[in-house]
Amino acid sequence: MRTIVLLAFASLLFFQTNGQDRNRCASHEAVKQQMAIDPVYAKKVEQLLKNKGNYSRSDKKGPPAQQRSITIPVVVHVLYNSAEQNISDAQVQSQIDVLNEDFGATNDDYNNYEAGYRSVKGDMDIQYCLVQIIRKQTKHKSFGFNDNMKYTQKGGSDAIDPMHMLNIWVCDLGNKLLGFAYYPGITPEKFGVVCHTNAFGRGEGYNLFAEYSLGRTTTHEVGHCFGLVHIWGDRTCGSDEVDDTPLHDSPNFGCPEEGHLSTCTGTPLEMWMNYMDYTDDRCMYFFSDGQVSRASFFIDSDPQLTSIINSSCGTARRTNDDITNVSNSNVNSSRTILTNDLIIYPTITAGQLTLSFSKTTVAKAEINIYSQAGSLMMKKQIAGKTVDQLDVSRLTNGIYFIEVSQGISRQTRKFVVQH
Ligand SMILES: [Zn+2]
Repeated sequence: MRTIVLLAFASLLFFQTNGQDRNRCASHEAVKQQMAIDPVYAKKVEQLLKNKGNYSRSDKKGPPAQQRSITIPVVVHVLYNSAEQNISDAQVQSQIDVLNEDFGATNDDYNNYEAGYRSVKGDMDIQYCLVQIIRKQTKHKSFGFNDNMKYTQKGGSDAIDPMHMLNIWVCDLGNKLLGFAYYPGITPEKFGVVCHTNAFGRGEGYNLFAEYSLGRTTTHEVGHCFGLVHIWGDRTCGSDEVDDTPLHDSPNFGCPEEGHLSTCTGTPLEMWMNYMDYTDDRCMYFFSDGQVSRASFFIDSDPQLTSIINSSCGTARRTNDDITNVSNSNVNSSRTILTNDLIIYPTITAGQLTLSFSKTTVAKAEINIYSQAGSLMMKKQIAGKTVDQLDVSRLTNGIYFIEVSQGISRQTRKFVVQH
């Protein structure tokens, strides 16, 4: 009996430390959950999943619109509970580097296993620029499978300008889950990638899960953002609605042998080396031409994706210094800002905006700047100041609203950016 218990315990330990025990991606579950509560999104996804008419094998290198190089501005939210989770700028940049390689087909392993699927290896021709890193300490030891990381009020960090930038949230998702993302069409502030801290970036010096240390979790999740479906179609021998990917029984884990065949109709060679499978990071290394064409369709037809890809990295710039780290940001201070206490000047500016709190010292207040259309453009937290400067030079000409909130107290002022 003792031996049996010990063996059972040993196998449990093995199972828990084996990469297959981790949930590589919860996107399918996340999408289903949203579809159940949001009929509009449900309809969009149903149309998305069956949409096959806008790309085909004959597109091979994609339609003309896809030939252009796209550069997508990215904002990364680093949510940390312990200091160790407050990953370095270098680790964040290493993930951007991986995205640039994987979406530019310049990754070192792109030419692996040429005997398998050489003729359909694609090139997304998409690049990414890191515009901003937001660091925020949270009371949550782990977020798990929900959207709380996307909301400051829930201990996370609000999306920044989601109509113009791809937001990526890096946080602890518990020991099992590595990441998730929604297909296009979701509420804009929920759009983007969520990735476990220990699967984000690439580098031996970083604290990463051994099987998921090459940054491919985020590559996979960005694939979902572009409308790509898991290669097994999320059911036994299901379709991913891409013509040049084979039928898969189910997800592959680890690193299958070359020549691994599916048991589905036609017993095709499984494309386990595709980014939309569940294999270890070192064993996935390309998108297919069909996936490139499908992604191109969504990039060109989804309003949010179209807006993001038409945004310029050049006009956006790093604003790390704008962000003040505040411990337990979702814990409200007991101090409040008095009505009419806030003065901003000049109300027409090309760059600097001064905020003056004339009657009381501000303690842990949140500042949000919105466009006239209601998009969140900038955010900042301040504490212990009566005067503060904001650099709004990266905003384009137009009318904006600045909202200062503290607990239930909220004040809004209007200003104009005129370059
Ligand atoms: Zn996935």
